[in-house]
Amino acid sequence: MTGGSCYIPNKGRKQGPMVSIPECFSESYAEARPKFCAAAAAAGGALRSWLNPKARGPNGEALFLDTARFGPADAENMLVLIAGTHGVEGHCGSGAEIAWLRMGGPARLPQDTGSLLIHAINPYGFAWSRRVTEDNVDLNRNFVDHDKAYPINAGYEEIAAAVVPQQWDDASHAATARVFDAYAQTHGAYGLQGAISSGQYTHPDGVFFGGHKPTWSNRAIRAIARTELCAARRVGVIDFHTGLGPFGHGELICAVAPSAKSFARARAWYGDEMTSPESGTSTSAVVVGVMTDAFPQELPDAEVTSVAIEYGTYAVPDVLNAVRADNWLHQKGDMSSAQGKAIKADIKERFFPSGDKWREMVWQRADQTIGWALKGLTG
Ligand SMILES: [Zn+2]
Repeated sequence: MTGGSCYIPNKGRKQGPMVSIPECFSESYAEARPKFCAAAAAAGGALRSWLNPKARGPNGEALFLDTARFGPADAENMLVLIAGTHGVEGHCGSGAEIAWLRMGGPARLPQDTGSLLIHAINPYGFAWSRRVTEDNVDLNRNFVDHDKAYPINAGYEEIAAAVVPQQWDDASHAATARVFDAYAQTHGAYGLQGAISSGQYTHPDGVFFGGHKPTWSNRAIRAIARTELCAARRVGVIDFHTGLGPFGHGELICAVAPSAKSFARARAWYGDEMTSPESGTSTSAVVVGVMTDAFPQELPDAEVTSVAIEYGTYAVPDVLNAVRADNWLHQKGDMSSAQGKAIKADIKERFFPSGDKWREMVWQRADQTIGWALKGLTG
């Protein structure tokens, strides 16, 4: 990738290395991982790698979650950036993290403040261009209490057969459309989106499945929180996502209940820019068991303020269709067929639009949001 605007890191300096923002983004997990590690090492970060023993990449490569830590070991404030909760959405978070590193972000951290960059928390999904983990789990629905009864999603149960058809062809598309249209007639388009995407615990072969136990990435992030963030008093988490909202716009979504103290804190940091699924102000359906819930659970003595940044790509029906197609392909289709290759190319584009503009928009909003988070952490 070439071209795109260049930015000069370390604002205020007259001269500095030019950073091409589009070149901070990668076309594959295999490209992103060494790029992230090199950028983190160059910025003086302490790197740690966590091997996922349960999966390999499409070329047989080992899959790692990598972390890079900056700042004093006993920093009171910690900024946490997370890329790849939804696998294929990791192209976005990886690019934003690498841009922050190359733009000199670590050197500009305020006093008593460190940062922890988490790269490819779901490396399987990133490597295979999927939202899910190696066990078909939506990581952002997996952080429920698995000892308790799971939330019921009656809407999903009603349309489950249409969500995952036996075949992927014109006839099955028409049959699915009839079921979805009928559901939307009664419950509205947003109701249909909620039935499909809010999470379900009844169909392990379906989409947005939350799992029946903590998956590898769930256990890894909890261990990382305990080891890397135990000394922090204030933790600000930004989790990068894509697929909902206007093209290139980064919606700041607070997934905690509006009555929670951390919600008020997030509102103070991010202002009216922040949206809330529970309050009906977000493009996202209300979801349960989100990954960022791990941080207050593992760090009970810290003040945790979490937000998801959700970058728009394409229209919701097209995005959900890509997710369903990918799910069908991995369970019933042929990855090496022309149809299989087209489905893989489509899901990547839906969550990581090609071209420089979208990537530049991602960075601008990430830079702004990181600035707000650092102000909030130290204010
Ligand atoms: Zn996501």
